[in-house]
Amino acid sequence: MPGIRVKEQSSGKQGARNSMIQDNIKTVKERMKRACDISGRNPEDVRLIAVSKTKPVSMLQEAYDCGCRDFGENKVQELVEKYEQMPKDIRWHMIGHLQRNKVKYIVDKVYMIHSVDSVRLAEEISREAVKKNVTVSVLAEVNVAGEESKFGTSPDEAVSLVEEIAKLPNIVVKGLMTIAPYVDDPEENRLYFAKLKQIYVDIIHKNIDNVCMEELSMGMTGDYQTAIEEGATYIRVGTGIFGERQYTSV
Ligand SMILES: *Cc1c(COP(=O)(O)O)cnc(C)c1O
Repeated sequence: MPGIRVKEQSSGKQGARNSMIQDNIKTVKERMKRACDISGRNPEDVRLIAVSKTKPVSMLQEAYDCGCRDFGENKVQELVEKYEQMPKDIRWHMIGHLQRNKVKYIVDKVYMIHSVDSVRLAEEISREAVKKNVTVSVLAEVNVAGEESKFGTSPDEAVSLVEEIAKLPNIVVKGLMTIAPYVDDPEENRLYFAKLKQIYVDIIHKNIDNVCMEELSMGMTGDYQTAIEEGATYIRVGTGIFGERQYTSV
């Protein structure tokens, strides 16, 4: 695979940047705790995924040194490159749209794939997982807000998607994921988080074999407190940890 280029920042800013990441993680953790207090949840039930897409490994290493072990990436090549350079005890989360022809590069490297939105993709993951003799944990991605620009199955089809994935070997459905709309006021997303939770509860009640609904991956920098209040077990925070992303054309 051709190399990807991730913009390196000038080493002169090293000190400032390092403390920025440390401060940001501290702030996120405090807000997570507050959201748990408000909603009577155990802080241990909510885990932070540091979304490191576009960021150089030096910044990931800084987050790692602050204790982060869960990292989220949305591109296969970038995930593989960082996987090779970073410590091996990291849990890598694939959170972006996944093309079937790239599944083979990551099935034995990822801890969880959050973005399974079709039976065909699940079949490919299963096939590659069997070949490599691994079991892959996945979440079914649901487009709760029905945004046309977003991937994910519709809420109506979520249960049948989960049922179909559950029949495949070497792949286990662990829960649901959603990407809520981009909004200024996180309250606007509360109903979408509540809706994902409702679908999750409905699926639990169906007692489907080979499905252990444990995870709700929802909430990003702009709305993670609200997502936690509505039951998130994973929040995915990028900007709130690493700062704004710059997309450079390669
Ligand atoms: C980029 C991304 C995030 C993080 O977004 P921020 O707003 O920077 O926190 C979370 N989830 C997914 C699926 C993403 O692609």
